[in-house]
Amino acid sequence: MLDQDCLFCKIIQKKIPAELVFEDDQTLVFKDIYPKASIHLLVIPKKHVSGVTDPHSLVEINAIWSTINKVTEKLAIKDKGFRLVINSGHDGRQEVNHLHFHILAGERLKVL
Ligand code: AMP
Ligand code: ZN
Repeated sequence: MLDQDCLFCKIIQKKIPAELVFEDDQTLVFKDIYPKASIHLLVIPKKHVSGVTDPHSLVEINAIWSTINKVTEKLAIKDKGFRLVINSGHDGRQEVNHLHFHILAGERLKVL
């Protein structure tokens, strides 16, 4: 369910502080500690799932999608636009092995 060595599981358990933006039964949204855009949020499931390659990630997708829509609406970036990023594995530079979507917004972003 939760992994005691996982940074984001510690944030879920409030053992490590984070700037929370949204929370429901299945998901949590907080500000990235090193923002790469003026709005940089992380959306995570409350269950420990290691990333997109973890088969259990599929179960969490509906809740994450719903949360992304609620949060972008709440922050008034739904219409202006935003970017979703998922890093996977070593070459994708995934640093935290707990599934997370980056939401980047607040200005027109650089072309990838
Ligand atoms: P990734 O490289 O996709 O695994 O992204 C991990 C993200 O977590 C990075 O953008 C980090 O800046 C962010 N991060 C690391 N530690 C914390 C923390 N304690 N609170 C919020 N964000 C964090
Ligand atoms: Zn975790």
